[in-house]
Amino acid sequence: MFWHQEIETLHRPALDALQLERLRETVRRLERVPFYRGKFLKTGIQPEDIKSAADIRRLPFTTAADLRENYPDGLLAVAREEVLRLHTSSGTTGKPKALFFSRRDVDTAAELIARAVCMTGVTRRDVFQNMMSYGLFTGGLVMHYGAEKVGCLVIPAGPGTSERQLLLMQDFRTTVIHILPSYALYFADFLEKKGIDPRKNLALRKAFVGAEPHTEETRRKIEEALGLDVYNSYGLTEMNGPGVAFECEGKCGMHLWEDNFVLEIIHPATGEPVDDGQTGELVLTSINREAMPLLRYRTRDLTSIIPGPCACGRTHRRIHRITGRSDDMLIVRGVNIFPQQIERVLMAMPQIGRNYVIQLEGLDDMTVKVELSPAGFDGEVGHLTELQNQVAEKLRAEIWIRPKVELVACGSLPVAEGKAKRVIDKRSL
Ligand SMILES: [Zn+2]
Repeated sequence: MFWHQEIETLHRPALDALQLERLRETVRRLERVPFYRGKFLKTGIQPEDIKSAADIRRLPFTTAADLRENYPDGLLAVAREEVLRLHTSSGTTGKPKALFFSRRDVDTAAELIARAVCMTGVTRRDVFQNMMSYGLFTGGLVMHYGAEKVGCLVIPAGPGTSERQLLLMQDFRTTVIHILPSYALYFADFLEKKGIDPRKNLALRKAFVGAEPHTEETRRKIEEALGLDVYNSYGLTEMNGPGVAFECEGKCGMHLWEDNFVLEIIHPATGEPVDDGQTGELVLTSINREAMPLLRYRTRDLTSIIPGPCACGRTHRRIHRITGRSDDMLIVRGVNIFPQQIERVLMAMPQIGRNYVIQLEGLDDMTVKVELSPAGFDGEVGHLTELQNQVAEKLRAEIWIRPKVELVACGSLPVAEGKAKRVIDKRSL
């Protein structure tokens, strides 16, 4: 199903031409922003110099640090009275990153969500419970407006308690949820403890998950536990929030809306482009924004372009699920490790539960604490030791070092209110 079939299936040459035109327009717009004007003057680049897609490489990168240094409104490209909305993204350190929306930007953001919602088969007959936090975080409001545009009944539940979420689901027969993957796993445990079988007692049929990188194994675990189809999504505050890239019904990578964003994948260290299919850092240029477009924004998210056309007919290229952040990489005993590698191993083991923490201590000691699944332990201590060894061995095969593994009771690890904190680094390095 299409929200805007013409643009979603636009022939590649026409899409490329549209991108180029919008990119030039964006550079022209950014000549008003002192930060970018300074950079253009330094390199002598003019909007007319952008003649092909490859010319984007003549433009400067923008980094998270640039956003912080220009906080609060140094990168604003329109008059203050043109701004309708503000969202921020809270970093782990220092000032937040602020992003402004004009009226058209608010509409466009909703339009991109509407496309995504429709392509998974959601219609105006659906009841959409948005369990993401409302407020400065984009996952609440931006998604809300998009689902409303499609005509769904939208329940702005926010991240309330599981009891309240369940009550809303039961009373209003919720069919679609928007949820953090870590919370979806926790919520499945909650239903299990309450003796509620979502297949029989609830009307859920689809879930949009995002805002946290997660693995294919986690998707399968959520689908199995909640009895619904899970679609992956990608977004970031700097590019509107959710709605940058979404999966279609094929669930084979996320279509990135290329009429709105120019997509590049680069080697994080050299800044040079990598080949299709190769993993690198995603770099995005917003080419359809008024209030605060960004050129070649270094997302730090690692992904790859999936080569070839998609069976759904959309011409916008697909990216692979995010496999990590270039800043998330842990270096343990000289080995590069991504937390997602550990998650992939854990989620593929049926005896293992849904919550885990990676703890780093001392010089370079790694402990993986993981919950057992409710049915994972039969009371035999010997079996527990055996399972512990099994997990440690599987992890060693994946990450090359053998961490200490602690199996803990289901429900005993802390559950995050927002994004899950999976790594606790207390090393004295
Ligand atoms: Zn597709």
